[in-house]
Amino acid sequence: MKFNNSLSAFEEAYKVIPGGVDSPVRAFKSVGGTPPFIAKGEGGYVFDIDGNRYIDFVQSWGPLIFGHADKDIENAVIEAVKNGLSFGAPTLNETALAKEVVELFEGIDKIRFVSSGTEAVMSAIRLARGYTKKDDFIKFTGCYHGHSDSLLVQAGSGMATFGSPSSPGVPADLTKHTLLAQYNNLESVKKCFEQSNGNIASIIIEPIAGNMGLVPADEAFLIGLRELCDEHGALLIFDEVMSGFRASLKGSGGIVDVKPDIITFGKVIGGGMPVGAFCASKKIMSQLSPEGPIYQAGTLSGNPIAMSAGLASLAKLKANPTIYDELERKAKKLIDGFLSSAKEFDIPMVGEVRGSMFGFFFSNIEVKNFEDALQNDTKRFALFHTKMLSRGVYLACSSFEAGFISTTTTDEMIDEAIAMAKLSLEEIALNR
Ligand SMILES: *Cc1c(COP(=O)(O)O)cnc(C)c1O
Repeated sequence: MKFNNSLSAFEEAYKVIPGGVDSPVRAFKSVGGTPPFIAKGEGGYVFDIDGNRYIDFVQSWGPLIFGHADKDIENAVIEAVKNGLSFGAPTLNETALAKEVVELFEGIDKIRFVSSGTEAVMSAIRLARGYTKKDDFIKFTGCYHGHSDSLLVQAGSGMATFGSPSSPGVPADLTKHTLLAQYNNLESVKKCFEQSNGNIASIIIEPIAGNMGLVPADEAFLIGLRELCDEHGALLIFDEVMSGFRASLKGSGGIVDVKPDIITFGKVIGGGMPVGAFCASKKIMSQLSPEGPIYQAGTLSGNPIAMSAGLASLAKLKANPTIYDELERKAKKLIDGFLSSAKEFDIPMVGEVRGSMFGFFFSNIEVKNFEDALQNDTKRFALFHTKMLSRGVYLACSSFEAGFISTTTTDEMIDEAIAMAKLSLEEIALNR
């Protein structure tokens, strides 16, 4: 496989864009090598500018549940484009998409659209703080909620501690209200409540974490969070930017029976266009401007082109509710295939599946939190990733990312990926 065109494209990009990319993970830093520049996508495949074809398990990091260039979404977008790109005024599709979403979730009455997951979560945190009139919130190590200041936080010295900024440029003053707890560990959350002294506005969690590899929360843990929030007058925020309409039509809601106060969406809700959203009960959402005093706005929010893609996507998902069983069957088949080859060559590996999301670690421990995830062999993952790429299988370029199946991912593609994984794992085993 040749990468010449991508190599020179990356050099050119590097001159004018930091790291040659507009979002860091795309630079392939944790796996090495040059990222293929993508020329086009077609269903379950992407093609790079050297003409190489890959089976795509990234799917734009989640949004493309119907694969690349889906005709229904494409046509909806083309029709919308003909009427103009943006008005900054209300349009019918915003209401239509809002209805499609809120009717899926009990206790959720109103939704507001924004342009990214980052914006959705940032706004949800502000809403929770404004509503409860408290400042602190709890997040979990290993969960990612976008790049807004108060969420770019890493653990300080101990567990259940106030976080310190994880990036230069974020003043410690802006993260001092962010408390960090351990995923799937209720005791660590209780400690945060003790430490904060009645000032916790909310707990934010990825109920199916996809940003430390795929690490689902235990149902009992989520129930515990719900109880702690109720006990302390805090709001529970489920960040379903990745898992929403991905793990099931109702995200985590189709898998566990725990109701959050606020849900955030992104990725699939935009069908490939930049859309984020946050939603809650009428009572909570009525605090949002212009109904209430909590300010939030966006020039391109609810953009008509983005709404048309989201609406086409959601309508199609709702019309075909059984696709999730099919997607999960394929995801399981893929992971089972990986695991059985790993076993054959005596390479430690564990894997998880939730609907169309999958994840695997080069590790022999069950992964329940970020600390467990860090035990996995990232060097081996990098090797595996490079070998798979050169065999035409495009996997997320970090062992801390989830993978995705689309409706256009065929059984033949899964079989092919399993066969390529077998060859790659065998080579890894021979050379260890
Ligand atoms: C991707 C993601 C975000 C951020 O969304 P962007 O659209 O990249 O800003 C937030 N939360 C979760 C859980 C995500 O997976």
